[in-house]
Amino acid sequence: MQDNPKALIRILVIAAHPDDIEFGMGGSVALWTDAGHEVIYALVTDGSAGTNEPGADLAALARTRRDEQIAAAAAVGVRDVRFLGHRDGTLQPTIELRRELTALIRQVRPQRVICQDPTLIFAGSGYINHPDHRAAGEAALYAVFPSAETRPIFPELLDEGLEPHKVHELYLTFSPQPDTFFDLSSVIDRKIESLLCHRSQVGPEVGEMVRGWDAETGKRDGYAYAESFRVMRLVDN
Ligand SMILES: [Zn+2]
Repeated sequence: MQDNPKALIRILVIAAHPDDIEFGMGGSVALWTDAGHEVIYALVTDGSAGTNEPGADLAALARTRRDEQIAAAAAVGVRDVRFLGHRDGTLQPTIELRRELTALIRQVRPQRVICQDPTLIFAGSGYINHPDHRAAGEAALYAVFPSAETRPIFPELLDEGLEPHKVHELYLTFSPQPDTFFDLSSVIDRKIESLLCHRSQVGPEVGEMVRGWDAETGKRDGYAYAESFRVMRLVDN
């Protein structure tokens, strides 16, 4: 499908780990920045569990992953990257995390928010969805609705000058029920280039694997490559 809202919009992408965006939605981000939309990334965890080496310097890894994420964002036209710095691997969808994401949404004031679908537990018969993905997704989902738009929720945010904000579109990535597919033909190489910026995590073989996934996703609509989302359009009450 085409994604051409009438006006330029601001899009906030919330994901658990450095590299999640690049695996699942980096091509769509490139389409949006090419169209002139402003895209902001928010990474909830620090990526410090991205190693199984005994004695690894996890603080150093977190710094490396931050640099890799900034480079990956730049490869698809994103300059504004926020790091919330939660510890990788044990994230929970707490009310505190929801408040933090509510504050972020009220500050950035995006028309569209992208987050990970918290309903996905099993993907096929070989992958258990990482619980950080579900935790970040659930907290983001409920920050979008009802928290960001409802004045009496988190009244302390009003004291910080963060007025309620209505998000109109919620895009869920890694969704078991996708309904919206984007043609990545013009951006697939930049998506893979962006993914491979995460040098501490992925090599060229992962790039080829993701290219294969996106080719599979594209088959439904006859696209060479595609990414998919479940899209919620949130009407005014
Ligand atoms: Zn992840």
